[in-house]
Amino acid sequence: MSKNIVVAIDGYSSCGKSTLAKALAKKLHFIYVDSGAMYRAVTLYFLRNHVNIADAEQVTAALQNIHLNFHSRDYQTHITLNGEEVSDEIRLMPVSENVSPVSAIREVRKEMVAQQQRMGKSKNIVMDGRDIGTAVFPNAQVKLFMTADPKVRAERRYRELLPNNPDITLEEVFENIAHRDYSDTTRKESPLMRAEDAVILDNTNITPDEQLAFALEKVQPFLKN
Ligand code: C5P
Repeated sequence: MSKNIVVAIDGYSSCGKSTLAKALAKKLHFIYVDSGAMYRAVTLYFLRNHVNIADAEQVTAALQNIHLNFHSRDYQTHITLNGEEVSDEIRLMPVSENVSPVSAIREVRKEMVAQQQRMGKSKNIVMDGRDIGTAVFPNAQVKLFMTADPKVRAERRYRELLPNNPDITLEEVFENIAHRDYSDTTRKESPLMRAEDAVILDNTNITPDEQLAFALEKVQPFLKN
């Protein structure tokens, strides 16, 4: 019986998890799942529908009306929220500024984790996020924990966002990253932390190709010839 391979990539905000996860999935012909996009899409729904996140009943009711789907074209994440493509909108500041409190809600996490576990049940996947190696797939064959200097992370994300957000400032991006790091690591429900068996990958001073080579080396022993 062949067992599917799961690669779990966790780490801080904007440290290149999705760049690595996409490249790895492409190289290995695995499915790529961006779990952050799911929390972002839920946040977008809550914002649009004025869901009071302090009200557990409202949150639970809203979750029942949310249907998320991934479509992969060229290993780019395309996510739909109730049939509507929201891949671009979930990257904008209103969602970035509200996603951490939404993702700290137990009911939200329970639902997302269940959906994520279903996706990784029988397929080879690479999933990135904050709790993939600790809560979603504690038995993943390969776990990477990514980090990088916060200033370098902010500069990279700023350059990425600028073309579509000409008014954005580096300070704003830096603040958002620092704030999300703080709330993601200190929340009660599945805080961001390194799984004991996760390998640390600090990409402050390495190129995307170098980090891909590092990750491929970790997956290699699990690939069948
Ligand atoms: O990965 P990304 O930065 O797009 O994730 C957005 C937010 O979603 C994170 O700051 C975090 O609050 C939340 N998240 C999470 N658990 C995951 C993935 C993302 O709590 N597995």
